[in-house]
Amino acid sequence: MTSLTDLGVAAIRDGVRDGAFSAREVAEAFVGAVEKGRLLNAFVVETPERALSAADAADEARAIDALKPLSGVPLGIKDLFATKGVQTTAGSRILEGFEPVYESTVSARLFAAGAGMLGKLNMDEFAMGSSNETSGYGPVISPWRRSDGGNAPLAPGGSSGGSAAAVAGRLCPGATGTDTGGSIRQPAAFVGISGIKPTYGRCSRWGIVAFASSLDQAGPMARDVRDCAILLEAMSGFDPKDATSLDLPVPRWETNLDADLKGKRVGIPREYRIDGVSEDIGRVWDQGIAWLKDAGAEIVEVSLPHTRYALPAYYIIAPAEASSNLARYDGVRYGRRVQPEQGGLADMYEATRAAGFGAEVKRRIMIGTYVLSAGFYDAYFNRAQKVRALIARDFEEVWKEADLLLTPTAPSAAFALGEKSADPIAMYLNDVFAVPASLAGLPAMSVPAGVDGQGLPLGLQIVGKALDEQGVLDAGLAIEQRAGFTYRPEAWW
Ligand code: GLN
Repeated sequence: MTSLTDLGVAAIRDGVRDGAFSAREVAEAFVGAVEKGRLLNAFVVETPERALSAADAADEARAIDALKPLSGVPLGIKDLFATKGVQTTAGSRILEGFEPVYESTVSARLFAAGAGMLGKLNMDEFAMGSSNETSGYGPVISPWRRSDGGNAPLAPGGSSGGSAAAVAGRLCPGATGTDTGGSIRQPAAFVGISGIKPTYGRCSRWGIVAFASSLDQAGPMARDVRDCAILLEAMSGFDPKDATSLDLPVPRWETNLDADLKGKRVGIPREYRIDGVSEDIGRVWDQGIAWLKDAGAEIVEVSLPHTRYALPAYYIIAPAEASSNLARYDGVRYGRRVQPEQGGLADMYEATRAAGFGAEVKRRIMIGTYVLSAGFYDAYFNRAQKVRALIARDFEEVWKEADLLLTPTAPSAAFALGEKSADPIAMYLNDVFAVPASLAGLPAMSVPAGVDGQGLPLGLQIVGKALDEQGVLDAGLAIEQRAGFTYRPEAWW
């Protein structure tokens, strides 16, 4: 018999409803998996009691025919989401011990839909990173290994690295992620799972620790496209507490899933064929094009002329917003405080921030402060904002010729822990395919599409028009059905 931890969100929901197993059995199985999986360092906090009590509530609801959309489904919650009464650190030591007195809108919605919480997932500090190595709580280890036996532990991607490793390692059937410049899509690609960043504004940012507010979006990470659709439906919706929240009804993405792409035009952006990308990625991309054609889509070559300016613009705008957002961590309001013996208030701020923030966060604050400073504002921040507008305009033009875009998710498969951590630029380059859709606020998803020569997963990215999550999910499903990606990390446990 397959183990309960092999089941995804839809299978658990349906099995609980049909009485194939109880929600309690499911929760116990995953609580056991989380314990066994501690060597991955995916969870910062474990909350088995929360998972079990939600499961008991689900079993009771079933008895009186009152099941909710996610009854019986235990989830991992990225540690960027404020969870009432449960430590929320954003991966930073500066927030160690911080227990919010409120719940983020997205996690509240998931729990209201019946989901349980297995714990808080490790992540890059304040979501800044692409490997999970900037976490103040140690890196997450990918459950994958290279087939040549190279034993160096691999990065799960970032910043939602805990979410990625936990889902791929079968510690939870689904998880929340957040994506500012790729943090759902790139880790999903690295570990062979699916993840979608919806249109900016679909998910409320209220109660999500802010990194770069004009880019931050929550989204689900799960084993397949259907599970992503189910979770995204529960997470989305208007929230008056977030001024950028979209006041629109939540579509029925799961019910409307349709892998028939007849009548759809899929654009292949010429500028994404860049140097330094492995041959394996080109092969999987070509394969994906053939699969979408097979699903009925018409393939068109398109151009996004400002693509090469997206990464530099992102690495100005995101740190600028971060430097402002992170000013609140001063030792007064939250978490940690370091009070030098003979110092005044300013010394306390300095000592707290020096001790509480890691190197990458300090780098971003310095870059952000610099590009916003009076002397350099026009040369950097203002110019980056103009570039952002041009990138958004590129997409507007492209939608005259295409309904969706297909690209690789990342320029490489998972790299080893330590391989890029000393070279921030090499790390930033990993986001090259992810950030344009972020800057334009568009929905984008990664689905597993194949493996490289080392047997490591490779993802393909689908980008859609604003609000067309359905189109993105449908194309993702068309790829998923043809890729037949059933690889899973070797039994590391
Ligand atoms: N890797 C990117 C960065 O470091 C994106 C992070 C994210 O999407 N949160 O900024």
